[in-house]
This record gives sequence, structure tokens and C-alpha cells, in this order.
Amino acid sequence: MWKKELKKSFSDLSQLFDFLEISKKQKSLFLEKSSFPLLLPYRLAQKIKKRSIDDPLLLQFVPSKKEKIEKKGFTLDPLQEKSCCTGRVLRKYPKRALLLASFFCGMHCRFCFRRHFSPPSSSLEEAVEELRKDKTISEVILSGGDPLSLSNQELKKLLQSLEDIPHIERLRIHTRMFIAAPERVDEDFLLLLRELKKPLYFVLHINHPHELGEDLFLSLKKILLLGHPILTQSVLLRRVNDNLQTLTTLFETLINQRILPYYLHKLDPCAGTSHFATTPLIEKKCLLELKNQLPGYGYPKFVQEIAGKKSKQPLVLRNCPRIK
Ligand code: SF4
Repeated sequence: MWKKELKKSFSDLSQLFDFLEISKKQKSLFLEKSSFPLLLPYRLAQKIKKRSIDDPLLLQFVPSKKEKIEKKGFTLDPLQEKSCCTGRVLRKYPKRALLLASFFCGMHCRFCFRRHFSPPSSSLEEAVEELRKDKTISEVILSGGDPLSLSNQELKKLLQSLEDIPHIERLRIHTRMFIAAPERVDEDFLLLLRELKKPLYFVLHINHPHELGEDLFLSLKKILLLGHPILTQSVLLRRVNDNLQTLTTLFETLINQRILPYYLHKLDPCAGTSHFATTPLIEKKCLLELKNQLPGYGYPKFVQEIAGKKSKQPLVLRNCPRIK
């Protein structure tokens, strides 16, 4: 069912523009071809306002000509992941390892810091063996691509083989797949979750309230009822969500669904994404005011990932410019 839903995604820009009733003049602002091609799930395309090129979902997924801007500091591998990657295993932080479970996503987000990533040729079995040998690892984070682009069968095999490693105490899945297709939470998926013995956390990537909806909440509720905590991470993106009202609505809606906002990331400086970068002044304004709007448990940590650091770095607001 969810695979059928993903097949309805838009990968052809002309077809998408016809669907969105975008004019010829408006079309000229977008890139017809990109090495990181258009991939927009039908569920999200339906939520984009017709004839609007400022829509926050359109801006996240449709390739803009601004991606051609070359800006100092914006590089192909901003987090220098190549240097900490062995096959499909990335070791950035002590005790935790990232496993690149899949190289496919349910959507192509234009700001993605792995948009230039070249997938290694090693297998999942090799990655599991590597994690088995490294006894310092107590938590494995399934990332990608999107780990939930694996079939239930593949996922079950992977999760069970990780659970069988005694020193691995917890698992985590980072995903955006439920936003593309809430149908991903199907009976077989719930069954495999029910069979797990070790704690499994979900971290959903969500940037804008328009990505939410009753269909998504219904699916997530099924996961919550099984006792698997759901957290979120978001990226602060220029013109998409860099205003107080959008962020407040996003995080309040999430906590009303028992989902906890975990991280709000500063954009990683990846080549082709500089038009999404926010200014320190906007960051400070949003963040300070947001703090007054939300209960402490609903206020995400504002962080930046810096290559070589042993954890995500909190952004200190007092170092930002003064708000007049
Ligand atoms: S779903 Fe995640 S990994 Fe895939 S393109 Fe979007 S941000 Fe990147």
C-alpha cells in the first residue's frame, strides 16, 4: 500500500507544474534538471497551494535556480562524513554509531546535507558485523537515505540482527518516510515493532505544520501505543519556517500529539543550499520568542553539527546580535 503511494510521487517538473498550475514565467525560476532530482510525494504535492511559488512545501522540494549559487563555506560534504565512514557505518560520537540502512528516500529535500553523498558498495551484513566487533557502541541509529524505504522483511532482519548483539542496548530510527506516506505504518510494520525486545526510538524529520495531518497522527498513534517514543528534528530554513508563528504552530501541534520536539538544527552548509540559510538575527528572534510560547518539554534544542565535535553543539543565543 505505502509503496503504491510512493509510486504516485512527482519526479517530472513539468507534470508537477501543470498539477500546481504554475505559470510559464514562474517556471523560469526553477531548475529543469539536477543531479539531485525532483522527488515529491503526492501527499505533500496535494498540500501545496496552487499557483504559489512561495509555498513552504514547494520551497523544500522543488529545485530552485538558486542552487547554482556558489557560496564560501558551503561544501559537498559539510560534516566531513567521509572521514568517519567505514562502509555503511559512521562513527561521529562516542558510544553511538550511525548505520546507513538505505540510500533511498521517500522524498528529495533540497537542503539535505547528504545530497552529494556517494553510497558505499558494502552490504548491510558487513555493517552489522562491524558493529558486532565494536564493543564501545551501545546505540545504533538507522539513517540513510531513509531506513524506512527498506521493506518490512529487510527491516525486520536488520533490527533483529542488531538486537542480537549484546552490547547494543538501544536502537533509533531517523526517518521522514511517514511524512511521505503515513501508510508506511502498516500491519507488518507494527508486528515487527511488537516483536522487538530492546528500546527503539523514532526521530521524525518535520519542518512545517503543513507536513502534518490527521492521516499522519493516526499512524503515529499506533506506534506510540506500542510504547516506542517519537521525537522530532527540524531544520530552520529561510522562507520555509523561520518565523515565530510557524514554529510555534509546529511544535504545539506535535506536543498535542504526544510527540516531543528534540532538535531544531541550523542549516548544514552544503553546496547548493545557501539560499536556505537563516541569519543570526532571525535565529535569535525566533528562538527567544519561541521559548516564551512553549512549555519547556516542547522547546527543542537549537543545535549545529560541527565536523569533528563529539556531540551536536548548542547555539548560544547570547552570542547573537542584539534585537532592536
Ligand atoms: S529524507 Fe532525509 S536523507 Fe532524504 S533527502 Fe530528505 S533530508 Fe535528506
